[in-house]
Parts: sequence; C-alpha cells; structure tokens
Amino acid sequence: MSETNPIPYAESELYRIRHSAAHVMAEAVLALFPEAKIAIGPPIEDGFYYDFDLGQENGKPRTFSEENLAQIEERMKELLKQNAPFEHSSMSIREAQAFFADQPYKLELIADLAAGKLDENGEATAVPASEVSIYKQRDFVDLCRGPHVKFTKQVKANAVKLLRTGGAYWRGNENNPQLQRIYGTAWHNKEELDEYLRLLEEAKARDHRRLGKQLGLFHISQLVGSGLPLWLPKGAVLRETLENFLRQAQLERGYLPVITPHIGKLDLYITSGHYPYYKASQYTPIDVDEEKFMLKPMNCPHHIEIYRSEARSYRDLPLRLAEFGTVYRYEQSGELTGLTRVRGFTVDDSHLFVTPDQLEEEFIGVVDLIQFVFQTMGFHDFRARLGTNDPSSDKYAGAPEMWAKGINAIRQAADKAGMNYTIEEGEAAFYGPKLDFIFRDVLKREWQLGTVQVDFLLPERFDLEYTGEDGQKHRPVMIHRAPFGSMERFVGILIEHFNGAFPLWLAPAQVMMVPIADRHNEYAHAVSRQLRAVGMRVQVDDSSDRMNKKIRNAQLQKIPYMLVVGDKEMENNAVAVRTRDEEDRGALPVAEFISHATTLITTKSMEL
Ligand SMILES: [Zn+2]
Ligand SMILES: [Zn+2]
Repeated sequence: MSETNPIPYAESELYRIRHSAAHVMAEAVLALFPEAKIAIGPPIEDGFYYDFDLGQENGKPRTFSEENLAQIEERMKELLKQNAPFEHSSMSIREAQAFFADQPYKLELIADLAAGKLDENGEATAVPASEVSIYKQRDFVDLCRGPHVKFTKQVKANAVKLLRTGGAYWRGNENNPQLQRIYGTAWHNKEELDEYLRLLEEAKARDHRRLGKQLGLFHISQLVGSGLPLWLPKGAVLRETLENFLRQAQLERGYLPVITPHIGKLDLYITSGHYPYYKASQYTPIDVDEEKFMLKPMNCPHHIEIYRSEARSYRDLPLRLAEFGTVYRYEQSGELTGLTRVRGFTVDDSHLFVTPDQLEEEFIGVVDLIQFVFQTMGFHDFRARLGTNDPSSDKYAGAPEMWAKGINAIRQAADKAGMNYTIEEGEAAFYGPKLDFIFRDVLKREWQLGTVQVDFLLPERFDLEYTGEDGQKHRPVMIHRAPFGSMERFVGILIEHFNGAFPLWLAPAQVMMVPIADRHNEYAHAVSRQLRAVGMRVQVDDSSDRMNKKIRNAQLQKIPYMLVVGDKEMENNAVAVRTRDEEDRGALPVAEFISHATTLITTKSMEL
C-alpha cells in the first residue's frame, strides 16, 4: 500500500502560487529599493521567502523595518492585481552574465550553473549548463526553472501576507554576507490564509518555550549552555512517565536494557563511519591520556560493542538492546530552540540484531510498537515515509545490493503491516534505508518522530557474527529504531500538541487539593496521602489564598483535577471535583474519585 501521497508539493498549485508570489515580492522590493541585490527565493512549507542584500549602514547589514514590510506587501498586491504573464525563456551563459551584471549573487549562481554544480533552483546537479532558464513578469527577470502560475492574478492579492524578516547567510554559510530574508505566505484564497494565520497565532500561544516556563517543565541556563535544557521536577516527571511507559512496552516485547557511557574513543566512530559523515555536527574530540574521545553522537556503536562482548549463536537472536541514551550534536547557536533543537538529547534508542530470516518479522514488530506508542499518545494523524538513498550522491555507504535488500525488506514489512507510506529518495541514513513516522499535530504541523532503520553496513564494519544452526559463521542484520525519536523534542511537541494540558496519566501534577479554609488543611493532606498511596501525583494548596484564587492557579498550571474540600466534604469523607476545563462535578466519596481516576490512568485515557 505504498505511494498514496496525493500530489507532491513541488507539483501542486500551491507551490506554483508561492513560487510566483516570491518573484512578485522580489519585484516589489526592487521597485522600492532599486539598489537591493537579490539572492534566491524559493517556495517553502506553508509559504515562500526571498533573500536580499540591502548593503551596509553604519558598518552593519541594512535591514527591512516593519514599515518596509508593509510597503512591500502593499506594492506586491498592486503588482499581483495587474495580471502580468509569467514568461519562460532561456539565455546563454554569456547573455545571463551580461543581464545580471549588477546582481553579484545571480552571477555566482550562473557561475555554478556553468560549472555544473547547482541548478537554477539551487539544487545539486552534475550537468554543466550551456544556457540558463529564465522567468520574467513585467520587467522582473529571475534565474528560475519554475514552475509558476500563468498570470500574476492567479496569486490572489488577499490570499498573500508577508510575515516577518530576519537575517540569513548567503548559502547558509556564516562566513558569507548576511542577507535580509523576507518570509511570506500565500494560499488559494482568503479563507485558507485566514485559517493559516489563526493556526499561527495558536502556535504562538502554545509555544513550548513559553508553556515550559509557565508550567515549570524545563529551564535553559546560559551558565550551563544554550541547547542544554535542564529538566525541572515537573518536566522530569513527565519525561520519566513516558520513559517508563515505553520501558514496559519494550519489556513485554522482549527488549533487554543496557546502559552505556556518554563518551567513546574516536576510533569507535571511525570504525562505525559516523565520524567522517557527521563531522560537522559533532564536537571536537577530547584528549584524555593521549587518546582521543568524543561525546557520543550516536548510541549504535556502543550497543554493537555489547553485541561483540560475547560469542553469539542463532539462539541469542533476535537480540534487542534498548537504552535511553543521551547523544550530543553540534547545532549552530542560531538554530537552537527550547526542547526541539538542542545540543544534547536522549534517544529512546534500540538496536535489534537479527538473522536475515528474522528481519521482516522483527521489522513488523517494531512498526507495531511505534503504532502502539502513537495510539496511546492519542496521535492518530500520522504517516510513514520510506527514505531511500539517492544513487547520485556519495553520502551513502554500502553496496547497491545491500540497499536494494534493505528497501525491499522495509516495503514487505510495511505492506504486511498494512501501512500507508510514501517513498522519498535521499532521505535514508548513510548506512541504510529507513521508515520515518511523521505526525501531524492539532495545528496541522508535521513533525518527524519515530524512525526504523535497516542496516547491513555496520554489522560488516564491526565484523559482527553469529554461529548459525549449520555451525557456520553468519552476519546479523541490524535494525535501529526510536519511537519517540528524541525525548526532548518529543516532549516539546507534546507540550504544544496538548497545549500543556496533558492527559491524566502524563500530567506532572494530577490533582490539586483545595482546602476552603485553614481548618480543612489537615483533611486535604489526609486525602492527598490516600491518593499518593495509589500512585497519584498530588499537590495541596494550603496557602492563605481564597478558594477561587487557588482554583484559578491550578487551572493555569493545567492540573487535571482540583479537589475542593470544606466542612461538608470532611463530614462525608468526600471531595468536590472540578476539572481544569472549569467543569464542576460536585461531591464524590474519596474512594469513588480514586477508582475513577486510577482507571483513567491505567488505561492511559484521554478523558477526565
Ligand atoms: Zn523562481
Ligand atoms: Zn543506531
């Protein structure tokens, strides 16, 4: 059941609309800032951007102001309404060089085209061009392979909005000049634009960095370092609850826990092949007693050494080693955000060592586990993507037969599991093909979460063996998998998806006891002890605040239940139940509340 993707984005009408909007935006910018140098302007997910160089001002790159942005948008809308055709043609390299003589970024692109390094869209190519593809509307001409809409009017002026501006380095390289990027969005019609803007606002309100602070989940200390989040007690409870849930699911499926150190010798990663491939995203090695060590970028080599710690026979396989293993990657400081882009993160990692005969069944088992995990989280809107190698790239290691075998195994397993998936070339790991699970949250944003990868390469690199039934040595196959992906990122996504109002079983504090007056404090504490005894997470607000204030505070903390206790409740061994959604459920005997809540917790229900 593969390839059920509707139309690839790059072939959709929205893509043409956004690409065309980018050109018209550049046209508007040149009309208002004739001295601007234009770089590139592609469509992106949900919109488009274009990069400009406005020159220097007081020794710094000149930027666009909010007011400029409004002017550009206004001019853009006028231009869209004029209905000019997008005309496609070509120029020889020489003509293009003359035409773009005062556009240095375009000249650089033309040089790359002529050298066969990049195409007009900035994608790698191996073919030197003798001419360049051009699109023109009115007087604005751009190097471009399209596609575009036919006429500017097909981009509706009331369905376009410029969103923000910010610095971006030419070609993403911080040694290059800093350009000014304008981001915009464009849709089929005004209704779609309005809905998108509403979701954007909602996303801002749900930003996990804001909620993480409000709910006391995590903290980033500049003294510890950017991208190295500290988990506060409530965040730690949330994360441990997730980890314990997965631990239990893994235990039931025959996984074995392992624990490995945070650093390893450089040789280990040279053997695994991680070192040259990920060099740019890794930390400089650490010198210890004249040996070089690295912060571990991946858990795989450590688990492989556990496999190699004893002679293995077919009776030991499948061997499923699991660890919540923390890894470190270098990310540019500008790219760090809260929990979703960090420099150290914990992978719910596992490596399955299997015989070739077991590959399909084990792969299905992993897919089943990931589906179980997502369903438990209440994630119903997800899809799978089979990432294969790009045969024209040298990024991938291993023989073509190995790749074919791996891809085939994933396809068969996915088909058997009844999964829908799309195939995307160039999305594989360097050592093998993979199946990624992509989740769409309530704001319709896609997040790549779980992943399963088939690997024939590392077993070879590390010369892994097992003795078969025939008494001969054989090579196992490895499966790498992580249902959550990264605990940090997963929790970040979870915070935004649930807007901080976690399902009861995950909520860091499940109950807030609210004594009405001081004389009810003792009873509130007594009930809290009863709830804790059955494993519930309870807080008591015995402050001097008034009841309504206490309830309000608990609601702001998104605590699922507030149990109000006064004279009547004390008399009847009861609690008055309120929920964070401001629902007043009236009084319940304590025992009844416990039975209700514990049932919801054990079944990991989404209800309250
Ligand atoms: Zn273009
Ligand atoms: Zn791995």
